Amino acid sequence: MNETVAALLRKDGFLNICHEALDRQVSGPHRHSTAIRYVPATWTAERSEVRDISYQELTNATHKFANGLKKLGVKKGDILFSLSPRIPELYTVALGTLRLGAVFSPLFPAFGPEPIFARMNKGKAKALFSQASLFRKKVLPVRDSLPLLEHIILIDDDGSLKDIPGAIDFYTLMDEADATPLLEKTQPTDMALLHFTSGTTGEPKGAVHIHQAVVFHKESGQYALDLQPNDVFWCTADPGWVTGTSYGIISPLCNGATLLIDGAEFNATRWYEILNHFKVDVWYSAPTAIRMLMKAGEELPKKYDFSHIRFASSVGEPLNPEVIKWVEENLHLTLHDNWWQTETGGIIIANDRKLPVKPGSMGKPLPGIEVALIKDFKNGEISFAESNEQGEIAIRKGWPSMFTAYLGNPERYSKCFVGEWYLSGDLARKDEDGYFWFVGRKDDVIKTSGHLIGPFEVENVLMDHPAVLESAVIGIPDPVIGEMIKGYVVLKKSFAQSEEQKLQILAHARKKLGAALAPREIQFMDNLPKTRSGKIMRRLLKARELGLPEGDLSTLESDSGRS
Ligand code: ATP
Ligand code: MG
Repeated sequence: MNETVAALLRKDGFLNICHEALDRQVSGPHRHSTAIRYVPATWTAERSEVRDISYQELTNATHKFANGLKKLGVKKGDILFSLSPRIPELYTVALGTLRLGAVFSPLFPAFGPEPIFARMNKGKAKALFSQASLFRKKVLPVRDSLPLLEHIILIDDDGSLKDIPGAIDFYTLMDEADATPLLEKTQPTDMALLHFTSGTTGEPKGAVHIHQAVVFHKESGQYALDLQPNDVFWCTADPGWVTGTSYGIISPLCNGATLLIDGAEFNATRWYEILNHFKVDVWYSAPTAIRMLMKAGEELPKKYDFSHIRFASSVGEPLNPEVIKWVEENLHLTLHDNWWQTETGGIIIANDRKLPVKPGSMGKPLPGIEVALIKDFKNGEISFAESNEQGEIAIRKGWPSMFTAYLGNPERYSKCFVGEWYLSGDLARKDEDGYFWFVGRKDDVIKTSGHLIGPFEVENVLMDHPAVLESAVIGIPDPVIGEMIKGYVVLKKSFAQSEEQKLQILAHARKKLGAALAPREIQFMDNLPKTRSGKIMRRLLKARELGLPEGDLSTLESDSGRS
C-alpha cells in the first residue's frame, strides 16, 4: 500500500482524499453514478421520498464549498469542525474541506456543550459547520470561550440564524461561491482529519490522520468489507466517529459505491425496512446496534427479505458468538467481525469474505499489515506471545492510515510505540490457524487467584444463557484473591429479575467456565453504561462499585496511561 502512495505521488505530484473519493470517480466511470442516497427521517416504505446525489453533483458542490471557505479566509491546515445531523450537506462540507487542504474534524451531534467545547478547544477550531438550532443549544453557551473560532457556517433550520452574531448562512455561501474547480495539491503526510477517540477508558484523545490514509481506506474497504463499484452500502455509524468517516464517507466513494444515509435515529422496524427496501448490498454495523435489533424480538425480521445483502460486518466492540448466531438464525446472514481503533484509521484485523468465520474471533490481519502479540518489553527487549497465549495487539509501524499524533500530547503518542511496533492497549490471542481472538482491553483484564482473565470470555458465557441480552464483567479488588469477578446482566424482555434467575445464570457460568473464571456475583441492570458511540464503559461500573466519583477515575487508569 505504501507503493500505491508512492505511485500516486509520482503520477500526480500530490495526494488528496477528496480527489481520490470524487475527482477520480468523475473522470472515470462514475460521473453519473449515485454517490449518496439520502433517506430523510420522514421516509417510510410506503411514502418513499429519497434524495439521490450523483458523483458529479457532489463534486460540484464540494468545489463550491471549498471556494466559499477560501473566500472566508480558511486556509490549508486550518481545522473545521462539524456538528451536524446526517444530512447531505455534511458530506459536501467534509469533502469540500479536504479539497481545500483544510482539516475536517467531525463531532457527534448528540454531544452536549462540555464535550463539544473540550474538543473544539483542543483542536483550536477555526471554523464550524452546524445547524442554527444545534448551535444555539450546544455551542452558544461556550462560544465566548472559543476565541479562535472565526467562521460559523450554519443551516438555518429554525429561522434563528439572523439572531446569531456573525453566523454565515450555508446556502448563501454556496450560492455566492465560485464554481471553478479547486484542489489543494496536498502531500501524503499533510494533516487531513482529526478524530477523537470514544473515551471508553478515560479522556478522549485527538488522533491526527493524514491524506495518504485514503489509500488504506480504499483498499481495506475492498478487502475487509467486500466493497464493489455501484454497491448500495450502509454504514450505520455516524460520521461523528471515525468509522462513519473512514467507511461512512471515504472508502465507499473511493470504490464507486452508493452511500446510503439514514437521517433518522435507530428504530428496529425502520432499519429492517431500509435494509429490505433499498436492497442494501453491504452492511457495516456494530454489536450494540445488533443487540438493539435482538431486543426488538424474533417476529419482526420475519417480514423482510435480507437475501440481497452480500456482506454484513460489525466493528467497535467484541462481537459475541451469541449475536452471530442470532443474526444467522433470524436474518439468515453471516456477520463478520473486524477490529480497529481511531488510532489505526482503518480496519486492521477482519473476517473477510473468503475466510470461514470462527464465531468469537476477529479474523486475521489484512494483507500488508503485520500484527504481533507482545507479552512484555523491558530494556528494549520484546517478548512475543506463543500460539494461544495472550499478548497486546501490536501493529508494525508505517501502514498508510496510522495516526501521526495525539493532538497536543506528544508524550502520550510516544508511549504508544515500542521499537517498530504500535501498541494498541488491547489484548488478544492467536490460534494455530492464525485467527485472532479478542481478550479485552489491557485496563479491563481481571487478575483473580493468579489467573489473568479477559472480560470478553466471561461475558460471552453469560450472553449464551437464554435469559441474557447484554452483559459486562469487571474485577473488584479483593484482599484474598486479588480481584473478584462480578457480572452485570441485562435480561431479555420476556425474563423477570429474580433471585432464582440470578442463581440460574451463576450456575450456568460456573458449569461452562469453572469456579475460578465464573463470576462470584451477578447484578441485574436495566441498561449498561455506554459511551456515546455505544461501547460498554466497564470503568464506570468499577468506579460505582468502589464508590469513586464517576468523573474522577484517575485511580483506575493503568500505569501505561495509553488508552
Ligand atoms: P478510548 O481510547 O478513548 O478509551 P476507545 O478505545 O473505545 O476509547 P475507539 O478508538 O473508538 O475508542 O475504539 C477502539 C476500541 O474499540 C478498540 O481498541 C477495542 O478495544 C474496541 N474494539 C473495536 N473493534 C472491536 C472488535 N471487533 N472486537 C473487540 N473490541 C473492539
Ligand atoms: Mg482506545
